Amino acid sequence: MNERTDLLIVGGGLVGTSLALALAAAGRSVTLVEAMAPRTSADASGDDDRNLVLARASVNALRALGAWPRIEAAAGTIRRLEVSRAGEFGRVRMSAEDAGVDALGRVVPGRVLAAALEVRLAESPRVQRLVPAALESLAPTASGWLARIAVGDDVREIGAHLVVGADGSTSLVRRQAGIGAHEHDYGQSLFVCTISCARDLPDVAFERFTDDGPIALLPLPNRRRGLVLTVSADRHDEIAAMDDAAFVALAQQRFGWKLGAFTRPGKRFPHRIRRVVADSLAARRAVLVGNAAQTVHPIGAQGFNLGLRDALVLAEMVADAEDPGTPELLADYVSRRQPDRDGVLAFSHGLVSLGCLAQPAIGPLRSLAMAAFDRLPPLRHALARRGMGFRDSPPAAVLDTAP
Ligand SMILES: Cc1cc2nc3c(=O)[nH]c(=O)nc-3n(C[C@H](O)[C@H](O)[C@H](O)COP(=O)(O)OP(=O)(O)OC[C@H]3O[C@@H](n4cnc5c(N)ncnc54)[C@H](O)[C@@H]3O)c2cc1C
Repeated sequence: MNERTDLLIVGGGLVGTSLALALAAAGRSVTLVEAMAPRTSADASGDDDRNLVLARASVNALRALGAWPRIEAAAGTIRRLEVSRAGEFGRVRMSAEDAGVDALGRVVPGRVLAAALEVRLAESPRVQRLVPAALESLAPTASGWLARIAVGDDVREIGAHLVVGADGSTSLVRRQAGIGAHEHDYGQSLFVCTISCARDLPDVAFERFTDDGPIALLPLPNRRRGLVLTVSADRHDEIAAMDDAAFVALAQQRFGWKLGAFTRPGKRFPHRIRRVVADSLAARRAVLVGNAAQTVHPIGAQGFNLGLRDALVLAEMVADAEDPGTPELLADYVSRRQPDRDGVLAFSHGLVSLGCLAQPAIGPLRSLAMAAFDRLPPLRHALARRGMGFRDSPPAAVLDTAP
């Protein structure tokens, strides 16, 4: 006889893991399938060295999931954010003080976040994990799906009432459920590493747009900074092959000297950038969350923050549902997530398109718009709240309980 589960989550990345934890916290048992073996320690070497900006709402949620105490010591704090454009006079500034909070967000190494979630999962008896195990196919049944899952040399078949695709940009769940996706190639590559700066401007995050793409510098503990440098895709191989000195010189030339000389670059990790947007968030007894639902340009620092809200809203909605996969429940989920999703997609895409547009005629207008925005506290305040992740019917777990 086949095994059965109410809820099958495919993909145990940051979003799938968070979803499993949120469901378990709500008293719901789930099965989580992840293709990669778990990373056991935050220090383990791996290929994921991105520093993630966590919106304030996401930090609240990670606290609620019990993961934050294992993350906090490694987290930088964003109390001010400054966005500017090379060669233009306007800039936009936001501060925690203006917004009436102690921090706009935090910056955490991806491996530390993953390891903290992993520890919480291992402590959670309600999550049945198959790992490493890969979904191979989904076949529709009267009450849901029959999933074929490769576990080592075995193939297991598991029936589920609801399958959640948390399996990333190339989601197999998305394809098997018959949901299409639109892709956009930004023609950009992104390099991330950690560096030191001679001048310390604590707790300030910088985002600077240039004709060649944006660059961001994010505050980390011990006067280190997360560097995110975007280049046009045709320079990917050239920049990947640069030695540290040449790479640092390029970053310095892009960013300027506001933070003094850049030194001590850590290991560099390249990423090719594309946007992938699923045509729908749900199909019959299937739903998508995180990058499987939408993969956005990293420069807006929204992908995980948005995916975490997907997971938390879904957990909230299915927590007490007798059947988690009914068409009514999934339709409610889609309509509740749509405004947040649309807003983030428009913001991330608009930020890159407008910030990087190299037409001289646009420059003065863009400067004026930024300067005007900077002088309009209500507008700045509204954007700060959205940037902190408090958007359109947020899940309860992200709300502030303290200033
Ligand atoms: C350089 C960079 C910087 C970024 N910075 C930020 C930031 O500052 N803030 C922010 O919010 N976001 C940021 N992001 C985006 C963020 O990292 C992603 O949105 C987030 O990690 C997506 O998580 P996920 O769990 O949805 O997908 P993934 O991380 O892709 O996880 C999918 C998981 O599914 C598994 N899987 C796939 N297929 C199968 C299968 N058939 N069977 C079983 N398992 C399967 C995979 O092994 C994987 O573990 C950044 C991204 C990049 C590249």
